[in-house]
Amino acid sequence: MYQILIAEDESRISSFIEKGLKSHGFMTVVVSSGAEVLSQVSSSAFDLMLLDLGLPDKDGLKVIEELRGQGINFPIIILTARDEIDDKVAGLEGGADDYMTKPFRFEELLARIRLRLRSASDMATANDVALKVGDIVLDLRTRRAHVGSLSVDLPAREFTLAETFFRHPGQVLSREQLLDRVWGYDYNPGSNIVDVYVGYLRKKLGGDLIETVRGMGYRLRQ
Ligand code: CA
Repeated sequence: MYQILIAEDESRISSFIEKGLKSHGFMTVVVSSGAEVLSQVSSSAFDLMLLDLGLPDKDGLKVIEELRGQGINFPIIILTARDEIDDKVAGLEGGADDYMTKPFRFEELLARIRLRLRSASDMATANDVALKVGDIVLDLRTRRAHVGSLSVDLPAREFTLAETFFRHPGQVLSREQLLDRVWGYDYNPGSNIVDVYVGYLRKKLGGDLIETVRGMGYRLRQ
């Protein structure tokens, strides 16, 4: 399940988008200021952001600049009421991936979102041959882990779980997100399978690699 951050201060518009996305199986978080965007992205993992360029506290272009400066690289689609070519060009040059001019039809937004999510995951797969945190390397071609000079065998599920953490270092991933990304189908939400597998990874890759964030989920230490 993809998690989308919606940054829009007009509640009429944000609830229209949120309703549509939820009915298509997305998870959403809505914020209405630039400051909230920055605090959200530091605490949870998003796959894409919809960003109103006219937020009350901060220019949307500035928000993009700060996110990209922090190395946050999820796709950003800007929403602008201003039908000015300058804003769109500045947004795209500043690191946004696409734009929508308000008002728009939900179906068009949905098509753009799907397109951006697809190309982001294609790019991630094509570009990365290995993911590294500290002295631990996940080799994505051989699907093996290396801790220092030791090679560690991880069964498919454990490797996918490790990969999910390594793609979101420092971010909290909830049990629900991990179940969805690693197991990929509806698992009994009461199941402790995530906890069990995190235990396996700790045993094999290092006890303090993944920390428990009480009431929220797990986080890979950077
Ligand atoms: Ca606005």
